[in-house]
Amino acid sequence: MENNKKDVVVSGARPTGRLHLGNYWGTLKNWAELQHKYDCYFFVADWHALTTGADKSESLAANTREMVLDWLALGLDPAKCVFFRQSDVKEHAELALLLGMVTPISWLLRNPTFKDQLQELYKQKYKGQEDKMKKAEGVTRQLAEAHGEDAETTALHSDMAVIGFLGYPVLMAADILLYDATKVPIGKDQLPHLELTRDMVRRFNHVFGGQTLTEPEPLFTSSPVVPGIDGRKMSKSYGNTIALGEDAKSLEAKVKKMYTDPLKLKVDDKGHPEGCVVCAFHKLYNPEWKVQEDACRAGATGCGACKKLLIELMEKEIGGFRARRAEFAASVDVDKVLAEGAARARAVASKKMAAASKAAGLL
Ligand code: ADP
Repeated sequence: MENNKKDVVVSGARPTGRLHLGNYWGTLKNWAELQHKYDCYFFVADWHALTTGADKSESLAANTREMVLDWLALGLDPAKCVFFRQSDVKEHAELALLLGMVTPISWLLRNPTFKDQLQELYKQKYKGQEDKMKKAEGVTRQLAEAHGEDAETTALHSDMAVIGFLGYPVLMAADILLYDATKVPIGKDQLPHLELTRDMVRRFNHVFGGQTLTEPEPLFTSSPVVPGIDGRKMSKSYGNTIALGEDAKSLEAKVKKMYTDPLKLKVDDKGHPEGCVVCAFHKLYNPEWKVQEDACRAGATGCGACKKLLIELMEKEIGGFRARRAEFAASVDVDKVLAEGAARARAVASKKMAAASKAAGLL
């Protein structure tokens, strides 16, 4: 990288519902910091949301608006970074199409996330309808066997295995490559996706000649995995989330419900902070969390008092967020913010797209 050139960072988030504290600590807190160091492009990945949620398209527009307000209230500043809606910049689809010309299907079929998520979607679709699921599985298995395939590929024959879903790593590559991203913030588990992007760059440049596309590097972000109130990973699909702007009453109720050490029944029982959700949240919201943990271990504090303190600490931050968000909701024209962001993104993306088209002999 030349010294006078800043690294370019690209990242997106799917507008699939209200953001929760897992999203904040896992992703958005990093974004808010990155915008000060790099040239950042952050986008609402609405096309990506459709890859697994075409049946929920009616909530896309509302979710997009809510997400942008959350971003603003978290400190993402349109003056410091470019943020926009993916589908407003058609070059994302155009470059994905071109990348699709040089991406073997076998690369996509090997993508572990595709298989895992497909099976998860399959289970969710037939949740509570085991009979139907068995029938559907039977039919798809027969189909799979008829094609000489093993049971592992069964879900591939279901109607959830759409082309958009199989091809989402191609769209993701386009998202990144249009802006010549040099760094992509990811967790270690997402490395295979970025490797796929890098493979596509090499294949594209090799097939069409030249160095049109740039290989991005991972930017490993260290972020905690935030537990939900039941102790599993916080996730929309588990219904165990605390929203970024959770209202005071339900925040209190949720903290009170949090899973704690089942062996600590009385105040003076010695506690085990590992695995206790309240302790995990103290780590995030209480600078004195170590003191709290020591007191728990020594049996010098009870879970009730520990929760009470946590409620106060969390409400202080979350209350501040709610106030900022309400101000933005009343004063900001979200459509205008997105339109301006899209214009800035397009100015960069259209140049790269023209270069890619030229390389592919189209212009
Ligand atoms: P959900 O599981 O609620 O559907 P998403 O898949 O939309 O969440 O998450 C978007 C991003 O937010 C993920 O890529 C991940 O980086 C981050 N994230 C989500 N849940 C958590 C969590 N519990 N802890 C840390 N990060 C998380």
